[in-house]
Amino acid sequence: MTRPRTAYTGRAITFATMHGKELLAHDAFQNALGATVTAATGLDTDQFGTFAGEIPRTLSPREAARTKAQLGMQLAGTALGLASEGTFTSEFGPLMKNIELLIFIDDTLGLEIVEGSITISPVPGGRHIASPHEALTFALAIGFPGQGVILQSTRNDRTTAHKNITQLEVLGDTAEALLRQRHSLVILPDYRAHKAPSRAAAIRSLCEKMAQRLATECPRCRAPGFGHTNVELGLPCSLCGTATRAIAADINGCGRCAHHTRTPRNHTHADPGGCDHCNP
Ligand SMILES: [Zn+2]
Ligand SMILES: [Zn+2]
Repeated sequence: MTRPRTAYTGRAITFATMHGKELLAHDAFQNALGATVTAATGLDTDQFGTFAGEIPRTLSPREAARTKAQLGMQLAGTALGLASEGTFTSEFGPLMKNIELLIFIDDTLGLEIVEGSITISPVPGGRHIASPHEALTFALAIGFPGQGVILQSTRNDRTTAHKNITQLEVLGDTAEALLRQRHSLVILPDYRAHKAPSRAAAIRSLCEKMAQRLATECPRCRAPGFGHTNVELGLPCSLCGTATRAIAADINGCGRCAHHTRTPRNHTHADPGGCDHCNP
């Protein structure tokens, strides 16, 4: 028998998702690995927290992704699992920062591999609205209905998220009804993957990165998934030579053995502006 093209050729991988993320992974995993990605059925990923905040997130993104992946594998009875976790923060003023984390688990080989990305989301965060017109303006500006929205209404300290509105007319009517009942109303982008094309694109490119990585073997033990694991800080200042917090090198490593490689970045010295000695 010939050796399979990769460790995952012909294997089934379960993506723990309720929001169609398996479709974002499918082609990359098929092309790079010959593996088939399907969604777990009967899975409730909302229990790990929601973007709209009805269910708070208590685990770190990595823990949440790991727990989801394991649950999906359990439900599907597979040894290979994928899960992703996204966070949106507004540290760039009106722009949102989207951190995405994709985890791959191989129970047979004992591997847990993580890929991550940081992108600036083109979709702004939510805002309070006082009229149905404001809801429609916000929705159209962010690309509704391709990009989904959520109406979050609060009355007497009780907050309810109104999701899955797909028509402008229904959005206006819902907003009007809630405002008439004296709810305080916030409109938010729906960041779930099937309702947020820009987030789906970020997850798709992470899936491509992950598939390529799983096609890469450790040069020492031949385990799949050799790739970027860390960065080394301490690029020396160009003026005084002090180690700065700038990245000096990338570290690639194996998920199973201790083998790693160090690749220096193109710059040999850091700008003195980032040096604690020259620019305290
Ligand atoms: Zn310096
Ligand atoms: Zn290795």
